[in-house]
Amino acid sequence: MRTRAKHPDPTSRRSRILQLEQAARPLDPDAAERNSLMRAAHAYAQHFLDKLPETPAYNHDKSGALELRDLAAGPGPRPVDQLIERIDESVVRPGLKPSHAGHLAYIPGGGIYASSLADYLAAVTNEYAGVRFAGPGAVEMEDLILDWMAKLVGFPETADGNLASGGSVASLIAVVAAREAAGLRARDFHRAVVYASPHIHQCLHKALRVAGLGESVRRDVAVDEGRRLCPESLSEAIAADRARGLRPWLVLASAGTADTGALDPLATIADIARREGLWYHVDAAYGGFFAMLPEFRPVLSGMERADSIVLDPHKGMFLPYGTGAVLVRNRDALQDAHAYYAAYMQDTVEAEAGGRSPAAVSPELTKHFRGLRVWLPLLLHGEEPFRACLREKVELAKYFHREAGKLGFEVGPEPDLTVVTFRWVPESGGANAFNQALVEETHRDGRVFMSSTTVEGEFMLRMAALAFRTHLDTIDLALEVLRQALARLGVHPGPLRSAVAAGGRGR
Ligand SMILES: *Cc1c(COP(=O)(O)O)cnc(C)c1O
Repeated sequence: MRTRAKHPDPTSRRSRILQLEQAARPLDPDAAERNSLMRAAHAYAQHFLDKLPETPAYNHDKSGALELRDLAAGPGPRPVDQLIERIDESVVRPGLKPSHAGHLAYIPGGGIYASSLADYLAAVTNEYAGVRFAGPGAVEMEDLILDWMAKLVGFPETADGNLASGGSVASLIAVVAAREAAGLRARDFHRAVVYASPHIHQCLHKALRVAGLGESVRRDVAVDEGRRLCPESLSEAIAADRARGLRPWLVLASAGTADTGALDPLATIADIARREGLWYHVDAAYGGFFAMLPEFRPVLSGMERADSIVLDPHKGMFLPYGTGAVLVRNRDALQDAHAYYAAYMQDTVEAEAGGRSPAAVSPELTKHFRGLRVWLPLLLHGEEPFRACLREKVELAKYFHREAGKLGFEVGPEPDLTVVTFRWVPESGGANAFNQALVEETHRDGRVFMSSTTVEGEFMLRMAALAFRTHLDTIDLALEVLRQALARLGVHPGPLRSAVAAGGRGR
């Protein structure tokens, strides 16, 4: 039998509520408590940054991460010092340190300090950056940053964009805009053709699948010896597909491949895309911010004719992880693909007169106040240190390319940006196995961290200079680490060897 709930009298309800308020009080510390928490966090941050140069870039031993489980989530409270110690041992020590000078793998990230303070302030104020009505200033700040980037890449004022969580989500936003702009419907997907070099970032294939276009036709367009997309092959592939009754739709180009740092011929591809009526997407997640350097304008020219571009401020602007930007030439295409209306948000509509909300151009509604982490460092430091830092990395990559060659490595093409591929050709035995062993040796060393890739079946090591703390001493150390790793594998590169190498080593 059901019993009727007894209504507590109002006085006891009030006292119960007040008890709950007391119990929840730790979530809202007072000034003195905030101070003591801040001191602990700040002391750790200072310690971390001061000790960073002496710690390894890579720690093979990942057991610390598992010890996180020793502190079950939920029961508590626990002292902040104990928790910071756990963060240090379980999170910061194991694995790769992206904030380290010696992070020379993949496309390195950043972690500039001003941005971390911006994140702190963004979280404390918790400004709502998804909707203009709620956070007009936060949204305006994001708009300002997007305008700055649009100008950087040479987009017209009719362009629009979004600060997403990273390049992958930014790419998804672009692909969905491209799909809607072409009016592609499910019945068209299996006939829609996407063109890219085999070095296009996998996040674009992922974006296509997430956007429902997993069945679309992909054409791997041939590349030249610099691993850049070959425009003639692109034109031929498009013509062949038209003859087959397929529907050429999207061409993807890279302003810097993650694999080898190659820059596709952006202007020639723009010509073809325009002539053929294809949506032209440029993945500039890695290379886009090199547009800040006037000497890169010629090779990046053509980017301004794209329909959409992705840039990763958490790479080329050295920000901590968490920000990728998408820019779309035609703002309507972006909004048509993402805008929605909800009755419970009817109050916000009026503010849209001042411009669309970020929620109208992205899958996100509630979002981190990302604009601040880009805006603060840019205004605090000005553009010049960013330019210098990028230019330094370009020089470091060229320096490494030459020095590795002198050491006797077979080096890949002169870097378009800041990635160098290289391998050792052993006197006997398989080169791939040898270079795999070599990269593993450098990981065991850990003072710097380099990764590898496979190009046309050949195992290559990669050195990518983009971490903002990477300087000349880091590159010299990387060369020394390689020399020592070779020695442990029984190879002793010396000056004599270099002289031989200069005479040219065949494949
Ligand atoms: C990093 C990268 C991406 C993906 O961006 P995330 O920020 O990692 O999601 C896409 N393309 C290129 C060329 C990249 O370097």
